[in-house]
Amino acid sequence: MLKLDKVQSGYGNKLAIKNVSLEIGKSEIITLIGANGAGKSTTLMTICGVNPCRSGRILFQGKEIQKMEPDQIVRLGLCQVPEGRHIFPQLTVKENLDMGAFLRNDKENIKKDLEYVYALFPILAERRNQEGGNLSGGEQQMLAMSRALMARPQVLLLDEPSMGLAPLVIKQIFEIIKQINKESNTTIFLVEQNANQALHIADRGYVMENGEITLTGSAKELLANQDIQKAYLGI
Ligand code: ATP
Repeated sequence: MLKLDKVQSGYGNKLAIKNVSLEIGKSEIITLIGANGAGKSTTLMTICGVNPCRSGRILFQGKEIQKMEPDQIVRLGLCQVPEGRHIFPQLTVKENLDMGAFLRNDKENIKKDLEYVYALFPILAERRNQEGGNLSGGEQQMLAMSRALMARPQVLLLDEPSMGLAPLVIKQIFEIIKQINKESNTTIFLVEQNANQALHIADRGYVMENGEITLTGSAKELLANQDIQKAYLGI
């Protein structure tokens, strides 16, 4: 579905990610874990075309996308939920969701998808007329994910959905990520510092350190790996 082949990207004269290669199969949940500043967000931003890919190739369904503009990439079916949510605080919940469907004109399906996200997150249905900025952190994360789903993505790219949320809310968010993957076959690429939660819902994972992929394996293997336990799971 999505393949990175020796991708490099950075800021100014500094490379933030070096020779990053990874593969994400259709309907998989793949997580990219690593410490603060490892290069996880840069990887995501480079896939989405926000950060320029300086070398290497990014293939979506076999087609090179590394030179495409972000809006073209969204049109292809790759949609990002950025770190920090970035919802529109002065728009209502419903208006935020309408923005997610901005590139679509299949009205009947948009209506169905709106019902689907309201069923996933009933609190958003209750608050549909409230301004996004008045929601709690967890509700804003739900709104950001729902807004992305309104684009009907084939691949949902999630950047640290657990950031700043209470443990119970994190649990709920991760359960719903799994549910989205199961119900709509949406491929998930999950960037997380919360390695424990991420590996518990993922099929496979990649570990990133200092801009490079240093380890990969099934989620089970990574959870059982003593180095991972020590460095990322606090065991
Ligand atoms: P976090 O979990 O803190 O978001 P991360 O693994 O996502 O960390 P990145 O945000 O991709 O890491 O950062 C990778 C490197 O690039 C870090 O050294 C960071 O300081 C640097 N960096 C990130 N954004 C910028 C920027 N806009 N300008 C300059 N350097 C940046």
